[in-house]
Amino acid sequence: MQLTPPPLPAGAKCKRCSGRGQMRLPSHNTIFCSDCFLLFCRNAVAKAMKKFGIPRETDLLVAVSGGKDSLAVWDILNELGYRTRGVHVNLGIDTFSDESVRAVEEFASSRNLPWSSHSIADLLGWTIDEIRPRTRRSICSICGAIKRQMLNRLAVDLGYGTVVSGHNLDDEAGRLLGNILRNRTQYFDKQYPYLPSPHPRMPAKLKPLYRLESHELRAYCHFASIRPHSASCPYARGASSHKVKEALNLLETKMPGTKRDFLFSYLRNRKPPQTDLSELRLCEKCGAPSWLPVCSVCALKAQLDAKRGEPEPRPEG
Ligand code: SF4
Ligand SMILES: [Zn+2]
Ligand SMILES: [Zn+2]
Repeated sequence: MQLTPPPLPAGAKCKRCSGRGQMRLPSHNTIFCSDCFLLFCRNAVAKAMKKFGIPRETDLLVAVSGGKDSLAVWDILNELGYRTRGVHVNLGIDTFSDESVRAVEEFASSRNLPWSSHSIADLLGWTIDEIRPRTRRSICSICGAIKRQMLNRLAVDLGYGTVVSGHNLDDEAGRLLGNILRNRTQYFDKQYPYLPSPHPRMPAKLKPLYRLESHELRAYCHFASIRPHSASCPYARGASSHKVKEALNLLETKMPGTKRDFLFSYLRNRKPPQTDLSELRLCEKCGAPSWLPVCSVCALKAQLDAKRGEPEPRPEG
């Protein structure tokens, strides 16, 4: 279930400038014209950056998938005067990855922003499409681990201390509810939208969109003339995180502001966790921080390489 804002009443006016109302925000009980709405979104990000004490001089590496959230956060940080560089991880997922690259390329050239694309096939020798039929593990958890490790490595190689991602309020509220439902208390600390660097080879992680809802970011892209990709990953279907978000959206339609209150009341009075992992050892094969002699990505690569040459397993079902 995707949230779409209710239609605007005839003759609705912007509550900030009295211009023509174009965007209704039920959770804020307000209406904005397109310019005031863009300003509202930029102010939400500026507020997050101030809260986390990120000065304008900070160089930021923005992880861009080509979807609405990552392109919106890149645009907003650029509008706010931050020096940014985009980095795209090509997962090798059929037409979805081609669409992603197209959207990033189009956006970056429209704003004249630096970026680069890096394929997981170069790191691993395998794409997500090739890994999926060869493993019984959840492809999303494998994909997530590979992306995290690639982004850590790219940040170190490119000289960036902070990686920005486009996680929004829906993502963060959904993750929090999912962790509470399963009593996964060990992840509560990581729920904070700014995680300082815990290790020289692990950059700080920043989620400046945590104050903005998914439907607001869709509208931001529309009003800012950004064309994100419209494809969805074929492996996303049925993921439990989507079901939790749907449940929250159902509550949001009945009680506007629920998602915001839920997440913000949890974050209130919390501070970024101070985790020191500097004693973590380095993977013998790739040098990534790891608790074991060989990191999980290199262990996966070894398993896959051992089966190279075998015929591709037939899809189940
Ligand atoms: S939905 Fe697709 S892109 Fe997202 S984690 Fe799963 S496999 Fe990767
Ligand atoms: Zn206005
Ligand atoms: Zn490794």
